[in-house]
Amino acid sequence: MEEKVKDEKQQTIKRGDLTMLKLRSLFDKMMSVDSDQVMSVYLETDPTVIGRNRAAAQIWLKDSLKSIRNDLPQSHLKDFEKIHSNILEEAEYRISDGKSLILFSGTGFFEAAHPQIKVTNEVWWGKPSIGQLDWILEEYRNYGIIKIASEKIHYYIIGLNEVIKEWEETISSDTLAWQSKHLPPENIMREKAIPGLRGGDTKEIVERHISEEVQKFWKHCTSSIEAMKKQFHVNEIVLTGLDSQTDLFQKCLNTNEVTVIGKIPLARESSIKEIISAAQQIFQNFERTKEQKLIDKIIERSATNTSASLGIKKVLKLIQEGRSNTVAITNGSDKILVECNDCGYVMTKDAKECLHCISKNLRVGSMKTLIPPLLRKYKTPLNIVSDKVSDIFNKQGIGALWRY
Ligand SMILES: [Zn+2]
Repeated sequence: MEEKVKDEKQQTIKRGDLTMLKLRSLFDKMMSVDSDQVMSVYLETDPTVIGRNRAAAQIWLKDSLKSIRNDLPQSHLKDFEKIHSNILEEAEYRISDGKSLILFSGTGFFEAAHPQIKVTNEVWWGKPSIGQLDWILEEYRNYGIIKIASEKIHYYIIGLNEVIKEWEETISSDTLAWQSKHLPPENIMREKAIPGLRGGDTKEIVERHISEEVQKFWKHCTSSIEAMKKQFHVNEIVLTGLDSQTDLFQKCLNTNEVTVIGKIPLARESSIKEIISAAQQIFQNFERTKEQKLIDKIIERSATNTSASLGIKKVLKLIQEGRSNTVAITNGSDKILVECNDCGYVMTKDAKECLHCISKNLRVGSMKTLIPPLLRKYKTPLNIVSDKVSDIFNKQGIGALWRY
């Protein structure tokens, strides 16, 4: 499993298709769509999966669209037909790109992505179905790398093991720190008045002055780091540079918005690829430790039924009472659930009628489809955890800490 995940990520580097950036912008766009006549499609097209192939995926898509059409009210049919043919055309044309096909189509828009990430087959008519996108963005979260030098800071946003965005900030060229590196000494001395500078102790005073300027520049980076969080949803960063510099840099930062989760000593020839692979290890270890802690807490507390619940039925109830504080789900979880078409209440698939409004108008959806929007509605954070962390937890696949 570990090997397979690695392979999947390596391939992504080669393609350099900036998957995570694309999926994030797709997610944001679909969040703002205000229509209930949108077709959402998630189709697994990975030909290496045994028992699946692309022809079968297309047949599944056609059949699913047909069964949706059969259930539609007359008033939706005209819009549906147009979207229907666009979708089949795109699926036929692009089915060999990527491991899956994600499509959203409605009046006036058609959006497609072909990521190297597995999805659960789904065709959904109504409001855009963004649960799986939400799930993927949480499962493959972005993190940041900051490469530190005295007069230059380089920022990298890493998503799915590739650089999805990078930029640089340089100390301004009228500071002594910049000039001492780029101009001959006699030019600097001629033009710059350094307070306290007399003959004899020049070197020490100049160095102290430079170091003050550098730290001032570094302190300034706090706002860029907060931008990493705002724009790219980065919560964790890894620092790289000379040891003495990364330590000092961290002291200069003044923010609780992101966490420094590790440091990588920079060798002269370190390539960005090497830095990413070291950072990836740090990020994974950080994630595993965090997941282990959360899961241990859930298991321990749920055993005595104090402030935590384990298992889909209990957790669904807890969420919809507004009492869940945080929810953990293993990455492999893919149970079938049902949602009430009238009030949106979500239940396990054995429900015959809505537990909330007793409507019999229920529709089937996977966990990946239904749980993320439910958690958004109740403002509960979603944590996708590795299925390697705990066998006890895996058996249930989902658990939650109580708010009260
Ligand atoms: Zn209901």
